[in-house]
Amino acid sequence: MNTFSIKAFGSQAPDAELKQMDIHRREVTSKDVEIDILYCGVCHSDLHTARNEWNNTVYPNVPGHEIVGRITKVGEEVTKFKLGDLVAVGCMVDSCRECESCQDGLEQYCEAGNTGTYNSPDKHLGLQTFGGYSERVVVDENYVLRVPENLDPAATAPLLCAGITTYSPLKHWNVKAGIKVGIVGIGGLGHMGVKLAKAMGAYVVVITTSIEKVEDAQRLGADKVILSTDKEQMKANAHSLNFILDCVSAQHDINAYLNLLKRDGQLTLVGAPENPLPVAPFSLIPSRKSFSGSMIGGIRETQEMLDFCGEHNITSDIEIIRIQDINQAYERLLKGDVKYRFVIDMDSLKN
Ligand code: NAP
Ligand code: ZN
Ligand code: ZN
Repeated sequence: MNTFSIKAFGSQAPDAELKQMDIHRREVTSKDVEIDILYCGVCHSDLHTARNEWNNTVYPNVPGHEIVGRITKVGEEVTKFKLGDLVAVGCMVDSCRECESCQDGLEQYCEAGNTGTYNSPDKHLGLQTFGGYSERVVVDENYVLRVPENLDPAATAPLLCAGITTYSPLKHWNVKAGIKVGIVGIGGLGHMGVKLAKAMGAYVVVITTSIEKVEDAQRLGADKVILSTDKEQMKANAHSLNFILDCVSAQHDINAYLNLLKRDGQLTLVGAPENPLPVAPFSLIPSRKSFSGSMIGGIRETQEMLDFCGEHNITSDIEIIRIQDINQAYERLLKGDVKYRFVIDMDSLKN
């Protein structure tokens, strides 16, 4: 298979810094488009993967799955896109397309395992897939999204993971007017959860460990804020919420948050810390509560989310960085020192 070489940023070991390296992309095949990457968001999953916190990283690893760019080449059978289109790629670049989940448009739950944008077996080149911290990417058109024209491209990039990962469970659990929703962990995912739940009409409660986010939460659209480190506030708000979306990246006590749910309430976990989170039986049993998980969203739903954001003028609050500053950005991410998503201006890699 014909390939070409591009510049990328990635790492060679769990404790190694990310550095510039060369990687290969396939030349477009009949259904592929080639995308010149303009912006790439920095997800906490990039950091978990770069440092092998989920014990599944294959090195070299090039992270990045919040990609916005322009089409520079199309294969001869491509029908959905043309040269120059502003497009996006999220967390998946392929799946089996045949299993029940793929047939249902839920490719993220592909029974054969979806092909992640990075750190998945590459069906074309044999190695692992390489993500968006790179100059260009080649993707089958069926896994490419259209970016609404009214949205700022840099601030749209985080919608491709943080946006869809919060939109999908909010929709699945029927969040709407009259529902009281709690969002735990106001980072990249959480701040999108607040904006999206609000746009869906819900009453939105921010639950944060960071005192400096209390004021900001209202600006993001929250109706109420709970500082979770304050035991009195947590007690006063017990049994008050219908649904909680947990977006926390580190170890935390799930039981404290389950206690905020009303009878028949649901807590959905999207945050993915490396170790188990023990749930006490009596956090669930006495009020018939449920505890569930959710992973990103399917391709159809990702387009639906982008169009919803276009209609409601929703984008991420971002801080633009150069690729050369990625290692410092990871350290700041660990300290919760970002409002609320780093986005890499990929021009910094090209020049
Ligand atoms: P992020 O920007 O770093 O935000 C994480 C937030 O968690 C922090 O801002 C902080 O919010 C809160 N937090 C951190 N440490 C905490 C602790 N010890 N106790 C309680 N809260 C704490 O991360 P992100 O990019 O939004 O990602 C969040 C998690 O979701 C990561 O684990 C990521 O891998 C995962 N993820 C999952 C999916 C999926 O499909 N399920 C998709 C993407 C990402 P406060 O300051 O408000 O407390
Ligand atoms: Zn992500
Ligand atoms: Zn499948």
